[in-house]
Amino acid sequence: MKIKEITAFPIRISREDDEEGNDRPSVIDFGDYFVDESAFTSIYSKHHETTVIKIETDTGIVGWGEAQSPVAPRTTQVIVEDLVRPLVLGRDPFDIEAIWTRNFGAMRERGHPTGFYIDAIGGTDIALWDIVGKATGKPVHKLAGGRYRDKVKLYAGLGGTDPEKVADAAEEHVGLGYKALKLHLLLDVEGVAEIASAVRTRVGPDIMLMCDVHMRQSLTSAIKLGRALEKLDFTWLESPLVPDDIPGAVALSEALDMAVAIGEWSRTRYEMREAFERRAYDIVMHDIARTGITEGHRIGTIADTYNIPVAPHVGGGGILSVAATVEYSASCSNFMIMEHGHHANSYKNAITSEEYGPSNGYFEVSDKPGLGIEIDQSLVEKYLVT
Ligand SMILES: [Mg+2]
Repeated sequence: MKIKEITAFPIRISREDDEEGNDRPSVIDFGDYFVDESAFTSIYSKHHETTVIKIETDTGIVGWGEAQSPVAPRTTQVIVEDLVRPLVLGRDPFDIEAIWTRNFGAMRERGHPTGFYIDAIGGTDIALWDIVGKATGKPVHKLAGGRYRDKVKLYAGLGGTDPEKVADAAEEHVGLGYKALKLHLLLDVEGVAEIASAVRTRVGPDIMLMCDVHMRQSLTSAIKLGRALEKLDFTWLESPLVPDDIPGAVALSEALDMAVAIGEWSRTRYEMREAFERRAYDIVMHDIARTGITEGHRIGTIADTYNIPVAPHVGGGGILSVAATVEYSASCSNFMIMEHGHHANSYKNAITSEEYGPSNGYFEVSDKPGLGIEIDQSLVEKYLVT
């Protein structure tokens, strides 16, 4: 079997709600995009944006993948068309790891060991796994390590700035069957602690709660916040510091009893090596639509070597990102829990011909070949960014 064509589709789907909170601190508005006015944190789109990747083979089997592109998905399209395409055409899709290594090496010396380039090759990797699954009649997890579990446990993400409104959203998600929730809280220590307390009071002691502060804290404020969250029995404090502050993350992990979870920004084992070696975190949360399934498994295996559990990030990833993460999670020995956006799942499904989603806070691990998801190309083309 040979790869005949690879195509990237940058897409943009409108959304009505934003589970990380419509209700945000004040922003600088750029039209489609915006940034926080008071902190040097990520640029966001008001829409759901990502890059869908299609690989066709000479046998007629088609594989679908996704390179997570929450902003500027046309960048990923150009990388796939101009760089990845010549490197993969004519190759046997079963040579998945060899193809990843060839792609990674092609731009490493030039300073592209992360970011858009690695997202593009990660999305390509996901599409190759889909092909191999379809060619063998097996679900991806059966080929990528085997089935460790029949159900993948989810936590639902939600956010906001008003304690009672966030508590209302938490209660709603518990009513939908979720036993674990993560709060995206973009305030100072006192503001975060007040909302965390309101949510704990509302949902009671049996719901697992986590808090993501999107790198807005200093080491000292993160320690103070962690101590407040420990009293409320929160399971982890996520992304407290800027990504490169490894010494800060080490000091924070040592100072707190609760777990520190980081890693959604890291795409390769090379990038994560120092954090593992120095035990900079307690839970690792790489994103499969950034790492791909191949490199995601390598990172998970290194985490297992350090006895660190894996809680895969999905965030703004689309429906193929969700499906790839379910297949990865089913086949990851040290899997803990997977991120999910309950309401976002419906607009992410705008490109599927058959609804793909969880029930009662879990994804059932399917026996369908490949990623187990049906993509309708005419729907993908409907949302194309031109
Ligand atoms: Mg996060």
